[in-house]
Amino acid sequence: MLIGGELVDASDDRRLDAVNPYTRAVFATIPDATPDDVAQAVATARIAFDEVWSGVPGHERARLLHRLADLIEARVDELGRLESTDNGKLLRETTGQARFAARNYRFFAGYADKLYGRTIPLDTPDMLDYTIREPVGVAALITAWNSPMQLLANKLAPALAAGNAVVIKPSEHASVTTLLLADLVDRAGFPPGVVNIVSGGVEAGAALSSHPGLDRISFTGSVPTGQAIAAAAARTLVPVTLELGGKSPNIVFEDADLDRAVTGALVGIYSAGGQTCIAGSRLLVQASVHDQVVEQVAERARRIRLGDPMAPVTHMGPVANEPQYDRIRGVIADGKESGATMLAGQEALEGSDLESGFFVRPTVFADVDNSMALAREEIFGPVLSVLRFEDDDHAVALANDSDFGLASGIWTNNLSRAHSVARRLVAGTVWVNTYRASAAQAPFGGTRRSGWGRERGEEALEEYVRTKNVMVDLSGRTADPFSPTD
Ligand code: NAD
Repeated sequence: MLIGGELVDASDDRRLDAVNPYTRAVFATIPDATPDDVAQAVATARIAFDEVWSGVPGHERARLLHRLADLIEARVDELGRLESTDNGKLLRETTGQARFAARNYRFFAGYADKLYGRTIPLDTPDMLDYTIREPVGVAALITAWNSPMQLLANKLAPALAAGNAVVIKPSEHASVTTLLLADLVDRAGFPPGVVNIVSGGVEAGAALSSHPGLDRISFTGSVPTGQAIAAAAARTLVPVTLELGGKSPNIVFEDADLDRAVTGALVGIYSAGGQTCIAGSRLLVQASVHDQVVEQVAERARRIRLGDPMAPVTHMGPVANEPQYDRIRGVIADGKESGATMLAGQEALEGSDLESGFFVRPTVFADVDNSMALAREEIFGPVLSVLRFEDDDHAVALANDSDFGLASGIWTNNLSRAHSVARRLVAGTVWVNTYRASAAQAPFGGTRRSGWGRERGEEALEEYVRTKNVMVDLSGRTADPFSPTD
């Protein structure tokens, strides 16, 4: 772990296993931070912020962020291999995420010396009023296991660009690339204590999120943990950014290019084995093209090649960890009993060369009703639920009938339909004739139980900056309501 510029173990030497989900073998162990270690990291970040980092000018912060991006780019392959070993994602995706992380550091580096305030004309000309945009101070950044490098960059890049010190806690299920970042942060030249990294599970996470010495918590993970963090932060009144789950609708209209839409449906749900918050896990298909689209989706799902995440021929790797593997299999078993029709995913893996890993076949359930668990609960796995709709109003009603509101997709060649449906969807992101596209510039986040706040884009900076107002009396007089002579 990294605390105050030093590489340290947990103070009581506890460690957790890092398991390769392709082989189920333990390939590394990671420190399991105690609450004292976490408190130490927070205290160190505070000192670094107060004594050093708050005095470092924006152009220097930008230089350090670009340097960090250089170092990540130079080690993309190593980072990708480590991540794929740790969470089973395809190597091409994890190397892509390392590059995307570097892009994010560069994007926010550009803002580091442009945190301008405003001068504000008041009613009276004798007053000068202006704002200063300041870092909030010390931020806790807590991430999930599915995309550690990318999720961290979404938080760390704007936090550092804005001038904050941080304490990072990655998921106990995938920590190795975040721990490797300790080396990169040091080589980049960040002052000791500006970036602190502690690893561990629920205990370490809870110790961090309930710590009164924070100024911001940014969390990516599940709804129940988001609720626990929001409750802990209610006691300390630390503001919280929450990037939580989804049950995102991917909507295919009859006028769409159906080949593209079928590909978009597969990309939406089976990329990363469905272990993405933005997974297009509800496929809504217009009745007139329903059977044709569903047949093609199921046929192509059955042909997806499972295998070694490092092999270029593999389409989909294993599920990232055993609890998630057990959960998904349970959901599929329940889905079979729910009245939905299972069109893909039945073929057994037992006896195949995939038996050793946490593999789940791409699964398609058709005839799903929006009230079923298959349509309402986030599965976080390669399980697609297909629903049928009649017209635009019906599609929007089904799409919005959800506890979540993270992402959504629309497939249509009708320009006005695309824009009017985009307006009506309750979601932080709408994709039209694409799915899963992301960019450092584009703000991302949820509504409803998908979370609070935004990451990426200019909006992300606002999570790590606060505005101070300064009012200056230029008149040379002080109005005196207590004058003894009046
Ligand atoms: P999780 O909630 O189990 O864990 C996330 C992190 O929180 C881990 O680091 C964990 O150790 C920590 N944690 C656990 N209990 C804690 C507590 N009481 N206090 C503080 N921290 C605690 O989530 P997960 O299983 O790692 O990730 C999967 C979830 O993440 C899914 O729901 C998915 O949708 C969501 N996710 C959301 C986004 C997004 O940007 N919206 C992106 C990726 C994943």
